[in-house]
Amino acid sequence: MVAVSKTKPASDIKALYDAGQRIFGENKVQELADKAAQLPTDIEWHMIGHLQRNKVKYIAPFVSLIHGVDSLKLLKEINKQAEKAGRTIPCLLQMHIAEEDTKFGLDKAELQALLTCPEYQNMHHVKVCGLMGMATFTDDTMQVTREFEGLKKLFDEVKQQHFANSSSFNTLSMGMSGDYELAIAAGSNMVRIGSLLFGERNYSL
Ligand SMILES: *Cc1c(COP(=O)(O)O)cnc(C)c1O
Repeated sequence: MVAVSKTKPASDIKALYDAGQRIFGENKVQELADKAAQLPTDIEWHMIGHLQRNKVKYIAPFVSLIHGVDSLKLLKEINKQAEKAGRTIPCLLQMHIAEEDTKFGLDKAELQALLTCPEYQNMHHVKVCGLMGMATFTDDTMQVTREFEGLKKLFDEVKQQHFANSSSFNTLSMGMSGDYELAIAAGSNMVRIGSLLFGERNYSL
């Protein structure tokens, strides 16, 4: 479980840390870097939001997983900054599974194109560890389940087609406070939970 602490103060994170949680997720680079600097160094920080290429350098030295990779260009920049930092950065490719077109992510054809292009195959400082997706925001549980099951099916296909000889393609990040039970039932093995743990966010603060 990734505890999504965006907009919440470091003191809230520390309280959950003291209860044993070690994986925290943020969706803004500045906030992530600020909190990482203030909090215990054994926290694994995940970048869960949309990541702009010009900001990768601020988190490359320490981030443990980037969930929202949705283009070859972004992956290329992560590879470059990871090399500079002397690291290999684990990444998830974000798939577009929702009905809304506001949500970021790759479609199947783009995913295939990325995984088969020589440029990707020559990147030695990123490790694609799985897929991430966000379902449509709706009360229609059948639809949400359909979207999650579709992503699980794709995950299995991609694993077999492109990562058959690697054990590191093993992460399927899907499910948030409102839909994590459906996601787990559909095969998720990483949920990103914010408001259920920390309470509602107040963006006006
Ligand atoms: C905010 C956020 C979450 C957590 O949302 P909750 O509904 O508060 O659990 C999960 N994933 C992403 C990408 C987010 O931006």
